[in-house]
Amino acid sequence: GASGVGKGTVLGIMMKKREDLKFSVSATTRDPREGEINGVHYDFITREQFLQMVDADAFAEYDIHHSACYGTPRKQMEEKLEKGHVILDIDPNGAFQVRERYPEVTMIFITPPSYEELEKRLRGRNDGMAEEKIVGRLDRAKWEMEQSERYDHVVVNDDVERCAKEILDIISNKEHE
Ligand code: 5GP
Repeated sequence: GASGVGKGTVLGIMMKKREDLKFSVSATTRDPREGEINGVHYDFITREQFLQMVDADAFAEYDIHHSACYGTPRKQMEEKLEKGHVILDIDPNGAFQVRERYPEVTMIFITPPSYEELEKRLRGRNDGMAEEKIVGRLDRAKWEMEQSERYDHVVVNDDVERCAKEILDIISNKEHE
């Protein structure tokens, strides 16, 4: 889902309800936002470290967007995968790369009730993001929302609890397949 859609909140609710779900901690070159903890929300690394990891084929997928690099360190993801379901909070380019390498993946797109609602949420987030960054994220969100057709499921985040439950239901249905 696009930046500002509330993925973090929805994922937080889901993980509380199902403690066996493991979160894949991405590496990023962007600066931490207020409240973000290194090693928990992201591994905050330098561009140099990121490029070294690309060279070492240490990413399951990676992409450059929002003027920063983002990637899923393969080792931590595969270790978590051995223990159960792993949740990756990644952009469409990354998700399609993952689908190539791990065809058993389920791709779920979280969408806002409307584009206008997303704009309102992104502007209201109040985490000190500059106007030009907000505009960049909104442009990107339009493109991401177009990609949702290629996902296995599209879930509307009209209410965080309901949205989290819908995703948990998708996961348990998959387990009973
Ligand atoms: P944010 O900077 O708001 O935390 O994340 C911006 C975008 O980057 C979101 O769409 C998020 O899902 C995506 N993202 C976060 N981690 C990764 C990653 O490891 N790989 C890819 N491809 N995208 C990521």
